[in-house]
Amino acid sequence: MAIYTATSLKAELNERGWRLTPQRETILQVFQNLPEGNHLSAEDLYNHLHRQGENISLSTIYRTLKLMARMGILRELELAEGHKHYEINQPAPHHHHHLICVRCNKTIEFKNDSVLKTGTKTAQREGYYLLDCQMTIHAICPACQRALLPLG
Ligand SMILES: [Zn+2]
Ligand SMILES: [Zn+2]
Repeated sequence: MAIYTATSLKAELNERGWRLTPQRETILQVFQNLPEGNHLSAEDLYNHLHRQGENISLSTIYRTLKLMARMGILRELELAEGHKHYEINQPAPHHHHHLICVRCNKTIEFKNDSVLKTGTKTAQREGYYLLDCQMTIHAICPACQRALLPLG
């Protein structure tokens, strides 16, 4: 896995026959500047870009996100409400996993080297090129557990 700068991404995309169009570059920049722990849905990204005065259609955004996820540039994350969220795919030491509350979607990121090691080893053993390896834990957060307790 590699961390992508605009230049290294351009080279990688060219190698695979894709072009880093200005739109793709703009989308990538949003993810690169996203504070840690933030994840964007296609709609979030659309609204963000429109506030910046960028005129990119929602269907282009959907397509670009899918493409970048398939290439291992972004990672796709299924939060509890079913919307796909995206974030940049970062190598160690920023590589992380998610603990998600299925009731309120509160998401905690955590690190675990052994998950990544297992993924790397398994992919290598089978001759696969590793794009990403993530663990997603679905659970109920303390606040939602309290809300579920019967009264009295
Ligand atoms: Zn994350
Ligand atoms: Zn919760």
